[in-house]
Amino acid sequence: IERTLSIIKPDATRRNLTGKINAKFEDAGLRIVAQKRIKLSAEQAGKFYEVHKDRPFYGELVEFMASEPVVVQVLEGESAIAKNREVMGATNPAQADEGTIRKEFALSVGENSVHGSDAPETAKEEIAFFFSGLELV
Ligand code: ATP
Ligand code: MG
Repeated sequence: IERTLSIIKPDATRRNLTGKINAKFEDAGLRIVAQKRIKLSAEQAGKFYEVHKDRPFYGELVEFMASEPVVVQVLEGESAIAKNREVMGATNPAQADEGTIRKEFALSVGENSVHGSDAPETAKEEIAFFFSGLELV
């Protein structure tokens, strides 16, 4: 059993899509074991996306992620990291498979509705970035 960090991004929370996105996770066998709605400061968003700091879209991404509240969550399941990324679909919604979250809900490659950790080490770091031990059972 594995855990991964998921973020429902501002374009999706703004359009009231949290429940529909969560239904996709649950239908795929992922269990939402922790969840909270928070508003990131630009500084916090910048720190979370630090690995992308040299990419041309970094400034835009940080500004977007801090623009409105996000829902951060921990998803648990068999191969949760890979399964979550499968349910999310490709980064660019134009390339996302039918039935995926990004195909159905994403607005653009930047405003693409969800984030999911990409490997076990990053999942561990990203979960610890948002959740304390007390919030995880
Ligand atoms: P995430 O890390 O959010 O799960 P990902 O792993 O599919 O998505 P990355 O390449 O890690 O995509 O990019 C991180 C995020 O940066 C993307 O989810 C998207 O919001 C934004 N992004 C990526 N490429 C672009 C781009 N070309 N233009 C604007 N924003 C982008
Ligand atoms: Mg990524």
